[in-house]
Amino acid sequence: MLPFARVSIIGLGLIGSSVARAVRATMPTVALVGHDADPDVRGRADQLGFCDDITDTLGAAVTDADLVILCVPVGAIGAVAAELKHDLPADAILSDVGSCKASVLAAMAEHFPARQIVPAHPVAGTEYSGPEAGFATLFKGRWCILTPPGDADPAAVMRVSAFWERLGANIEIMDARHHDLVLAVTSHLPHLIAYTIVGTASDMEEVTQSEVIKYSAGGFRDFTRIAASDPTMWRDVFLANKDAALEMLQRFTEDLTMLQRAIRWGDGDALFDLFTRTRAVRRSIIEQGQDDAAPDFGRTHE
Ligand code: NAP
Repeated sequence: MLPFARVSIIGLGLIGSSVARAVRATMPTVALVGHDADPDVRGRADQLGFCDDITDTLGAAVTDADLVILCVPVGAIGAVAAELKHDLPADAILSDVGSCKASVLAAMAEHFPARQIVPAHPVAGTEYSGPEAGFATLFKGRWCILTPPGDADPAAVMRVSAFWERLGANIEIMDARHHDLVLAVTSHLPHLIAYTIVGTASDMEEVTQSEVIKYSAGGFRDFTRIAASDPTMWRDVFLANKDAALEMLQRFTEDLTMLQRAIRWGDGDALFDLFTRTRAVRRSIIEQGQDDAAPDFGRTHE
C-alpha cells in the first residue's frame, strides 16, 4: 500500500522537482501538486510536467494533500508554515527537506501540533538549482535523516519513512540538534572551506584569475564545484545552524593551526600520520557505497 495518495511539494527547485520526479517514477498513481513563490519557476515546472497540477497560491496547493513537503530554503520555512496554518488539512502530515533541522522543527512547531510534523533531510544534492536541475534517481542509495519531535506520532514517522524508502533512500532517525552537529562537520564546514578557498584564490594579486582557472586541474577544481552551490540556500544554512557551524569552525581552526605548526617545524611525521588517516576515511566512504571508486571522480582525461 502507498504511504500517501496526495502529495504537495512547495518549492520546485533542485530538491522539490527531484522529489516530484522520483514520486512519478516510483509511485505513479500518487496525485502530485506543486507550488513555487516564483511565477517564472511555476511556468517552467508546468512545462517540464513533473506534477499533475501547479497552483498559483500556496493554500490551493495543500487543501487536498495528505503529505506536504516544504522544499524551500531553510530561511523561508517559518514564513511558509505560518501561511499554511489555516489551509493544511488536520490529518495531513507536514514535512520538509531542509539542510538543518533544529530551527526548522521549531518553526513548524510554532504553528502545528507535533503529531502533524515529521521533518526530513535527504542527504543528496548537486551544485545546481532550479526545476531543470532535478532528476528522479537523486535519492537512490542515499541517506534520508528524519528528525521527528519527541512527541511525534509514530504512525506518521513510519509513513514518511516508507515514502522516502520508496524513493530509494535509506532512513535514519535522529534528534534534530544531533543532526545539525553531524551535518555541520560533514556538509556545512566543507562548504564554508570551499567558499573561502575559492574566494581567497580569486582575491589574490600575485596570481591572476586566468592562472587560477588555467591550472585548476589540481585540488582547487573540486572546491570550485562545491563553491558553486546555491548562495541563498547556503546563506540560510549558516544563519540557521549558527551554533553548530561555529563550534565546528572553532575545532577546524585549532586543527589547522596544528598543521601550520607541523609545517613550520618540519614535523613530517605529524603530516604523514594525518594524511594516512584521512586516506582511510575516503576508502570507508567508497566501501559504504556513498561515492564512486573511479579515479578523479570518474572524469575522463582524453
Ligand atoms: P532551489 O533549487 O533554489 O529551489 C528552491 C525553490 O524554492 C526556488 O524555486 C525558490 O524560488 C522557491 N522558494 C523560495 N521561497 C519560497 C516560498 N516562500 N514559497 C515557495 N517557494 C519558495 O533550492 P534546492 O537546492 O532545491 O533547496 C531546497 C531545500 O532543500 C533547502 O531547504 C535546502 O537546504 C534543502 N537541500 C538542498 C540540497 C542541495 O544539495 N541543494 C540537499 C539537501 C537538502 P526563487 O528562488 O526563484 O524565489
